[in-house]
Amino acid sequence: MKDEKKDYDAPIEGDRSFVNLYSLAWPVSSLGPGYRVVLWVAGCRKRCPGCISPEMQDPSSGRLVPVDVLARRLLRLDEGLAGVTISGGEPFDQTEGLADLLERVRAQRPRWNVMIYSGYVLSTLRRKSSAHRLIEMADVVIDGPYRREVPQSHPLAGSGNQRMHLISTRGRAMGPELEACRPGPVNFGLGPGLVNMVIGVPRSGGTECLRGQKKGHKGRKGPKGPKGLEDFFFNND
Ligand code: SF4
Repeated sequence: MKDEKKDYDAPIEGDRSFVNLYSLAWPVSSLGPGYRVVLWVAGCRKRCPGCISPEMQDPSSGRLVPVDVLARRLLRLDEGLAGVTISGGEPFDQTEGLADLLERVRAQRPRWNVMIYSGYVLSTLRRKSSAHRLIEMADVVIDGPYRREVPQSHPLAGSGNQRMHLISTRGRAMGPELEACRPGPVNFGLGPGLVNMVIGVPRSGGTECLRGQKKGHKGRKGPKGPKGLEDFFFNND
């Protein structure tokens, strides 16, 4: 039987060289304004009831990708993308690797904005010195655990307790655009092992569009849409 405790003790925090990546897709229009590249990280200790991405809770569901490899690959994407969204899994369980990655990417793509989802509330994160660098790299943080019993109040937040924090000057400028987001858009892409993914935020009470749940059958190519992890590393674009 799998030793889950061992997985959850994995020393991801503090490792500056790697991101434990579950999947990645671009161009995605359902997790923030404009067309974006979305990274889902693997590993989350929160275990929210009704978790919207349970397949990403186990750190061993991801692969450790060196930050320099990931940064180089992101910088080969279309410069015209609006920005990066980081979800999971719990991004703030691997703050150093992600902060290193964003630092490199932002230096080369200053026009890209950064949105980060977290199951922790921002006030808790601000009390953790290890989280400060990653918070500073974000323009927008959508915080709080997913609570399926709290009706959704914003199309980019899965449940009504989650709040959108406009962290930076650019984040505050994004306010009107974020407010204008309308519910419902989803994208289809390819996840790990060429498994189809439905990409978006679940509507209250709905299960059809998830922040990154696997759908479909392994090995079968999905509908036309965002490219995923396999394309990212093995194909040139
Ligand atoms: S924080 Fe997100 S990924 Fe973690 S258990 Fe809760 S819903 Fe799932």
